[in-house]
Amino acid sequence: MPITDALLDSFRNARHVVVFTGAGVSAESGIPTFRDALTGLWERFDPAELATPDAFRRDPALVWGWYEWRRMKVLQAQPNPAHLAIAALAERVPKLTLVTQNVDDLHERAGSRDVIHLHGSLHAPRCFACARPHTLTETPEEPAEGRRLEPPRCQHCNGLVRPGVVWFGEMLPEAALQAAFDAAGACDLLLSIGTSGVVQPAASIPRVALQAGAVVVHVNPQPAGHDGRREFSLTGAAGGVLPDLLRMLGGRHGIIDGSFRP
Ligand SMILES: [Zn+2]
Repeated sequence: MPITDALLDSFRNARHVVVFTGAGVSAESGIPTFRDALTGLWERFDPAELATPDAFRRDPALVWGWYEWRRMKVLQAQPNPAHLAIAALAERVPKLTLVTQNVDDLHERAGSRDVIHLHGSLHAPRCFACARPHTLTETPEEPAEGRRLEPPRCQHCNGLVRPGVVWFGEMLPEAALQAAFDAAGACDLLLSIGTSGVVQPAASIPRVALQAGAVVVHVNPQPAGHDGRREFSLTGAAGGVLPDLLRMLGGRHGIIDGSFRP
């Protein structure tokens, strides 16, 4: 559906907006989705060989190498117009809570603050033994032959440092999940962007908002057929739809010829 006046009014009247983002938003910055990240050098690997606690116990250098390779890809990428539009939207509404399933830091680099990371972050590793956070160097070491890299050691207990992402078989971080559900249940409007909506429990976040009486707007390249009384689909790349939406909302945030600066 097009962006209607009724939809714009929902944004203008909202006191609390939740923005919920998934892999589609990162993909527009050229960040490979989880499965796409298993092509090229990594094509013969299975996610179960790289993204589980058992995989890390079995071969920490292989798993660490993969995550450092992914972190390197993220650091080489830039926030796209969708990231920038979300950061700008936060300046336009009384309250905005940003919940992401992405493990990169592109929202933060676009200027968003207090981002709730449901699946952890490539940039927040911790000790596999004692769970204390570990500070990484700015520039990842290139994994040898593109693959293996010994993980650093914990400064406290000399344990191996693991990626700060949620692996298969692990719970989502409880505090982040709770904060996301609380925000979804309390918001007037939830914007779900670039997320397929199939991975639980995160997929139920838009549902919680809808049931609590909020307007829910989905932004995806494929039409999702959600259009209902309070649930809408905007079809297109997030980097096109969101700047359009901001421009139509109008305001004082330096919107020039479709581009803008947060
Ligand atoms: Zn430790």
